[in-house]
Amino acid sequence: MSSHTKRSPSKAKRTINCSGNLALVGTLPPHQVNIAGEAARIGTCVHGIIEKCLKEGKEPSDFLDRIVELVGEEEGFTMLKPNAKTPGPGRIFYVVNAEMIEGATVATDYVRGRCKELGIPESALQLETRTNPLPDRDDTSGTADVTIDAWPEVLEVADFKNGWILVETKSDQLVAYLLGKALEDDFSHERYMVTVIQPNASDPELRAPRSIEYTREELLAWQAMYRTSVERCGEADAAFAEVEKLEEPDQEQAYDDWAAKYLKPGDHCTFCEAEPICPAKRLLHQAQAKIDFSDEPRELVFDSRRRREISHLLKWAPMFASWFKAAAAYAQREMEAGFDIEGQKLVKSKTNRTFKPGMSEAEIVSGIVKGKFVADKSKLYDKPSLKSGPQIEKLVTAKRRKEFDSKFLHKPEGALTIAPTDDPRPAVKRSAADDFDDFDFEDDEMDFG
Ligand code: SF4
Repeated sequence: MSSHTKRSPSKAKRTINCSGNLALVGTLPPHQVNIAGEAARIGTCVHGIIEKCLKEGKEPSDFLDRIVELVGEEEGFTMLKPNAKTPGPGRIFYVVNAEMIEGATVATDYVRGRCKELGIPESALQLETRTNPLPDRDDTSGTADVTIDAWPEVLEVADFKNGWILVETKSDQLVAYLLGKALEDDFSHERYMVTVIQPNASDPELRAPRSIEYTREELLAWQAMYRTSVERCGEADAAFAEVEKLEEPDQEQAYDDWAAKYLKPGDHCTFCEAEPICPAKRLLHQAQAKIDFSDEPRELVFDSRRRREISHLLKWAPMFASWFKAAAAYAQREMEAGFDIEGQKLVKSKTNRTFKPGMSEAEIVSGIVKGKFVADKSKLYDKPSLKSGPQIEKLVTAKRRKEFDSKFLHKPEGALTIAPTDDPRPAVKRSAADDFDDFDFEDDEMDFG
């Protein structure tokens, strides 16, 4: 995986919407920045599998059960040899599982399909290559997952997202990648296109690859807007440096003024490392919840009849949940770095015992049998169990998956849950009362005799 620049396209949405973001992130100690969570690491593994398959002409399923190690500060992807020993303590590794293969297969199938359609060899694909939407700057470049260059017909950038938080097809990050690539050959293609491949997207309807086209003019207009945004970020950085030079109490007021001018919360706050300490975010939540976060928490009493209040509160639930989660993660990193957070302590999470690392399956089995811990070797194994339907579907050739699906798979009805009204799933009919929704009492004569 390549290194990120200060204003890389992966941060484009924040660069455009919150000019002070980087200045605020810059105040965080090193243990609070560039934190790769579990989901990001699994995403790195799947990206690595996709790249390896497209480079080496392999299928993702060829790597089932292989160990992937993430090495170094950038947590670069290394695929260990088949039957490699489990890495020892302190090393970050994952075993390639069916979910990873499923995600990678959606990406490789799509890219290979496009190569066929466009008549270009897989060897011509640009994999994990640099691209810069503002080539005169050295702080705005990033890495595009897959660039499909079918000159002069079409230039396409395909980006894989492993997470479930929906990535819009109209994404600033992807436009930045595409623009950088279009500039490299001076806009000599007829069409320009980005594709989001997000097989785990929260909306099942959007799990298939989604594409959108841009014209040269649209890309250049976006570039002008982006340049202005990046320059405003520079202005915010310079203004922040002036605030830092001040002494208290002047500094406090100047900081509040700076935050009001340059920090703007919104959707783009997701994954911002400064979220737990961001004054704009705190003010927003405080205003919406009508709670002063400097007060001690008190018991909130809800009257079950006050459904409107509950409805209002639930609209804010996802934002509060992610904010409190970010605050908890921030506190943990502080404490791991040796600082105290009042009212909290570090504890070990619960685990289950596992075989000691560094022993292969054969070594474990022969050690148990030879040591007479268990005489019957067959008792050490579970009966092979049938894989899940979707896992088996991955083993079926792409051409026959529909046939397999209709013959063997069905989707059981889910349990009732609540979801925001804009959730793509249709609302469940709950009672006879719903039947009257479409009933026009004025038009229909009712005779109660
Ligand atoms: S949390 Fe949101 S508003 Fe605050 S700095 Fe980050 S992106 Fe800007």
